[in-house]
Amino acid sequence: MGRSCAICCSSLGTVSTAYLCAPCYQQLPRSSLALPSGGSLYRYEGEMRRLILRAKVEGDSTALVVLRRLFLTSPALAVACAAVEQIIPVPSSLWGRLRGRIDIPWFLASDAAERFKLSLIAAPKQLYWRLNKRAYKEQRQRGYTLQFPQGEASIPTLLIDDIVTTGYTLTYLSSRLISARCSFFTLAEAFSEPLRKQWEP
Ligand SMILES: [Zn+2]
Repeated sequence: MGRSCAICCSSLGTVSTAYLCAPCYQQLPRSSLALPSGGSLYRYEGEMRRLILRAKVEGDSTALVVLRRLFLTSPALAVACAAVEQIIPVPSSLWGRLRGRIDIPWFLASDAAERFKLSLIAAPKQLYWRLNKRAYKEQRQRGYTLQFPQGEASIPTLLIDDIVTTGYTLTYLSSRLISARCSFFTLAEAFSEPLRKQWEP
């Protein structure tokens, strides 16, 4: 039996190893964001948003496979990983996990760590609670500079998340990981125009 496209369900033929048809792949909204401290692959809108929600909220395993593939095969991820020694999945989804939702950042980070032979480190547990508590409050506020402190003797570290919205979580995490020199890479971004303008050099 052949596969069908995970978005439009059109047939991909009997020998296909792909999960999306070419038109659906082309239509995914690419992100143009490239900051000194990191970047994102896609805009969190349209079919990308739907795929993420299917994986995260509905537990759709096909959507999760597609997202993991898109992430892991991205040349930009390879570049980001070549510059670091360790990977930390952003622990933004504790509430989600308690509700049984799929922790996409963990999958993305562990795939990348395995492929690029990097250490996979979990953020300290006590950060989870503080983050989640504050994240709700801060989410609607203005963005953060996303320029992380760059200590001399610290370990180059890539923070991996599924979606970045305000940059609060990334900024907070990088300020708490004292032995890490952080950059970030996310599957998608939902930055508003004012935020982009503020960050772009
Ligand atoms: Zn399709």
